[in-house]
Amino acid sequence: MSRPQQITVLGATGSIGLSTLDVIARHPQRYQVFALSGFSRLSELLALCVKHSPRFAVVPEAVVARTLQDDLRAAGLSTRVLVGEEGLCQVASDPEVDAVMAAIVGAAGLRPTLAAVEAGKKILLANKEALVMSGALFMQAVRKSGSVLLPIDSEHNAIFQCMPQDFARGLGAVGVRRILLTASGGPFRQTPMAELAHVTPEQACAHPNWSMGRKISVDSASMMNKGLELIEACWLFDAKPAQVEVVIHPQSVIHSLVDYIDGSVLAQLGNPDMRTPIANALAWPERIDSGVAPLDLFAIARLDFQAPDETRFPCLRLARQAAEAGDSAPAMLNAANEVAVAAFLDGRVRYPEIASIIEEVLGLEPVVAVNDLEAVFTADAKARVLAGQWLSRHGR
Ligand code: NAD
Ligand code: MG
Repeated sequence: MSRPQQITVLGATGSIGLSTLDVIARHPQRYQVFALSGFSRLSELLALCVKHSPRFAVVPEAVVARTLQDDLRAAGLSTRVLVGEEGLCQVASDPEVDAVMAAIVGAAGLRPTLAAVEAGKKILLANKEALVMSGALFMQAVRKSGSVLLPIDSEHNAIFQCMPQDFARGLGAVGVRRILLTASGGPFRQTPMAELAHVTPEQACAHPNWSMGRKISVDSASMMNKGLELIEACWLFDAKPAQVEVVIHPQSVIHSLVDYIDGSVLAQLGNPDMRTPIANALAWPERIDSGVAPLDLFAIARLDFQAPDETRFPCLRLARQAAEAGDSAPAMLNAANEVAVAAFLDGRVRYPEIASIIEEVLGLEPVVAVNDLEAVFTADAKARVLAGQWLSRHGR
């Protein structure tokens, strides 16, 4: 039997990271953990290292690295600890690595994910923000290096499974009319509008169907997550924003659909558990056990659909506008959203103000071309400054 594939898990201590390690641990003959990274939950990172014996672990700072290195030695492990973005890029591009799970949340994941792309790795992409920020450059780098890009986002993984293998020829060429991107509608789908100003971070993070990190949970509540996913779908499947329709489907059983010109609509269904898309991408084009229970259609009994209401979910409108505008607009949208969501999670802004901050930031800056990574990070930084100005002007 061939040697196990070497996997780097960026963002190993997060929700996607842990689900990835769960799937990997079910298939020790197929996969071995090469490197793990963590940012804040460092005792958990140590426990993961003890369990998976990676060659490398990556942490944000030198002080933390020394402590972790001592603890690893005391545990009898030869895992080497690396530091910061440089360490992340190193374990993402190491010649021994076969696949990289990009599961850092937010803009912080862009450089390491791109390092993996440029090194021609198989990319398991959970970090949607990286693609949203730098879509054109990212896809160009994928084409240049010949890297295999597999979507982990459940919707995009579903679309990938419903597309013909040769979808890269273009949606028109393969007979696809449109992509139907499903959304649960989150915890505030039916909350009276007047109450939205008083919802708490805990309520926003209590997603009805999925258990996820706090940032993406707030994005799901505001439907900015669906907006980011709309942009993500445009890049992954070379679609125009108008070819992607958002459909609210509260049960989260259909993870998305592809509508063909002959009237066929293909859907991917499954229990809402990220181990399914993770296992699908890890083993693609083969199939492996993910540990997810079989779908019980009789227990589900019915599936509902409704159109999204952009008055209730202004972030979805803002994201669609940014998708249409292109260039620097998605990077600015993403950065303003990251600042606004962090402030909401800290209790400094009210939930409806997340959209107000993003709308103001997008209105203040003209859209400019982004021809290199520096321009992407300049747009990102500008949006963070402008969002910060909103916060200080409002005394937050
Ligand atoms: P999470 O908050 O649970 O985990 C985030 C991970 O990133 C952690 O390991 C954390 O230590 C690390 N991290 C945070 N900030 C960092 C920084 N500045 N530098 C380096 N590392 C940092 O988030 P999650 O829910 O696992 O989501 C991860 C990514 O996957 C996000 O981009 C999210 O949109 C995407 N995603 C998640 C889900 C889900 O079900 N959780 C589904 C689809 C897509
Ligand atoms: Mg998703």
